[in-house]
Amino acid sequence: MERPDRQETLRRILGPAEPEVGCDACFDQLDRYVELELAGEDADRAIPGLRAHLAGCPACREEHESLVALVRAERT
Ligand SMILES: [Zn+2]
Repeated sequence: MERPDRQETLRRILGPAEPEVGCDACFDQLDRYVELELAGEDADRAIPGLRAHLAGCPACREEHESLVALVRAERT
């Protein structure tokens, strides 16, 4: 469970606007997000905030990239 003040700090750093998921939620949803993305579906709309999180979180972005590579490799 993240402390609210940390979330608030992050929000201030990353700017306002989009709702953002945390790392835990990001990891939970990443499989589905990549599936949708590679299927040409609107992953951003299906899982709001995940793209914003990836943009601001290098660790999750790296995880996302390797997952995309993995799923692509499995399909070829
Ligand atoms: Zn993250």
